[in-house]
Parts: sequence; C-alpha cells; structure tokens
Amino acid sequence: MGDLLISQPISKVDRLLLREKTFFVKRDDLIDTLLSGNKFRKLYSLIQTPAEQYKRLISYGGTQSNAMLSIAALCHQKGWLFDYTSKPVPEQLKNRPTGNLNKSLELGMRQHEVSHEDYEAAIVTLKLEADDSTLFVPQGGADPLAQAGIEKLADEIKEWQQESGIKQLNVVTPSGTGTTAYYLATALSDVTVLTTPSVGDEAYLIAQMNILGPLPENLRILVNSKKHHFGKPYAEFLAMYNELNNAGIEFDLIYASLMWHTLFQHIDSIEGTILYVHSGGLIGNATMLERYKHKGFMTRK
Ligand SMILES: *Cc1c(COP(=O)(O)O)cnc(C)c1O
Repeated sequence: MGDLLISQPISKVDRLLLREKTFFVKRDDLIDTLLSGNKFRKLYSLIQTPAEQYKRLISYGGTQSNAMLSIAALCHQKGWLFDYTSKPVPEQLKNRPTGNLNKSLELGMRQHEVSHEDYEAAIVTLKLEADDSTLFVPQGGADPLAQAGIEKLADEIKEWQQESGIKQLNVVTPSGTGTTAYYLATALSDVTVLTTPSVGDEAYLIAQMNILGPLPENLRILVNSKKHHFGKPYAEFLAMYNELNNAGIEFDLIYASLMWHTLFQHIDSIEGTILYVHSGGLIGNATMLERYKHKGFMTRK
C-alpha cells in the first residue's frame, strides 16, 4: 500500500514461549475489558460512528455470546438502545444471570426470547426492523461492516512484520463465523492465515465465509483430529488453557483453547514465524471454569 503515515497500533505484540517454540501474540485482549479482541475490531467502524447516527441497535444469537457483550458495551457507550433476540434462556440462567449475559443486562441490553420453532422466522422479521435510526447487526457481527476494523488490524500486523524483518509469516486466529480470519486473509495477501472452525465443521465454515466472498488462497483451515462441540468443556481444552496460562498469557476457553490445540496438531507442517492474534473473550472464562468444575474436570486444587 506504500502508506508512510500509518496510525499508531492499537495493540502490542508479545513473545510467548511454548513447547520450546517461540510464538508472537497480538494482544487485542488488552484493548478494553468489555470491548476487546476481534469484537473490538469488528465493531471498530461503529465505535467511530457518531452517537447521533442511530437510536437503536438490534441483533441476535447465543445467550452467552461474546459479540452480545461487546455490542452491549458499545450501545451503552453510545446511548443506543440494544434489543437482542435469542432462543429460550435456560431457567437457572434466567433466575441467576451470569457471565456475559449478566454484564450485558447490566449495560442495559433488552433481551427477547423466541421459541426454537419460531426463531428463524423471527430473525427474518428482525432484519426488516432496520431503518435510518435502527441498525441491524447479524449474529456474531458477521457483516461487511467488520472489514474496515479488521483492515486496521491487518495494517498493524504488516507494520510489525516489516519492523521485525519477518519474511515468512503465519497469522493464526480461531473462527466462529469466520469473519475475522476471512478479512485478515483478504487484507494480508503475503501472509498465510491459519484458522480452525469452532462452530460446525470445515464445510460449514467455508459456507459462512462464502457469504462474504470467494475464499482467499492464502487462507488455510486446520482441522482438529477430534470432533468437538461448540462451547462444551473438554479435558484437553482445559489442559491447553492451563499450559498457556503458565506460559504467561490467558486465553479464552472456547475458541483459543481449540485453536492452540489444533495448531499443535499441525505444527510440523507450518513454516516460518507464527503470530497468534488474541481474539479476546476472557470475560466468558469465569462461567466456563465454573462448568469445568461442575463436570469434575477440576478436582485437584
Ligand atoms: C467471536 C470470537 C471469535 C470468532 O470470530 P469470528 O470473526 O466470528 O470468526 C473467536 N474468538 C473469540 C474469543 C471470539 O469472541
């Protein structure tokens, strides 16, 4: 791009020594406690939007979603109403909201529940509510709206790569909707972007990405040898989390544990330097650790 005037990077890069290998980590987790990680990047253009532009934001998705919390924080900051639709909330959670849901409700989010049968139709109706003063954001912020903020992240990575004199670079980040990995790959054509599907399988991830456009050639999807269900506790994920923690950086227990676990299964086929983009999500760890405890994964103190 030849830009001589690149604005200040938003996050720093740290070194992480793991299994006798040096990794670099882009610390997007440190941007802000509530609005951090890739959700900060995906919502970046909305963060830059004047508060007067909208009165209300509507979205939908899981009841403990990281995107939900980030949007709630954004709307709180801007003074926008936030209406969020989800499938029925489990009774215990409704009686005693925890984690992301609790924080989002505290930030003023208005929650709407729709039965499983009516959910798809309700989302279609939601989209129709968008107008000049009401913004509709798809589940997980999977939207071309995210591109500008992820391009800023890509610019920071390019700048760091140049300064560090790194010739062959791999950028690693986990996928939910795939929006982050997709736009990183399109913005970083000289870099290999490695990701893994955490919701559904590889075919599902590719289908999600194809909504945004054709698959970039420099994008490589790594698949874990074992099938995992999204958001469920697994002994190997807890072990990975602990190992990373001991190495000096806390990562989230849903996306990152899977990504690192998968990365190590493929590590011998990866050449060059590895930069892991920390995608945030740390607030959800408390509820996940709670679940690990209940499932008896954490008997030793
Ligand atoms: C949302 C999220 C992702 C997935 O991002 P996509 O752009 O939807 O692929 C990965 N990691 C964390 C911690 C997240 O919160």
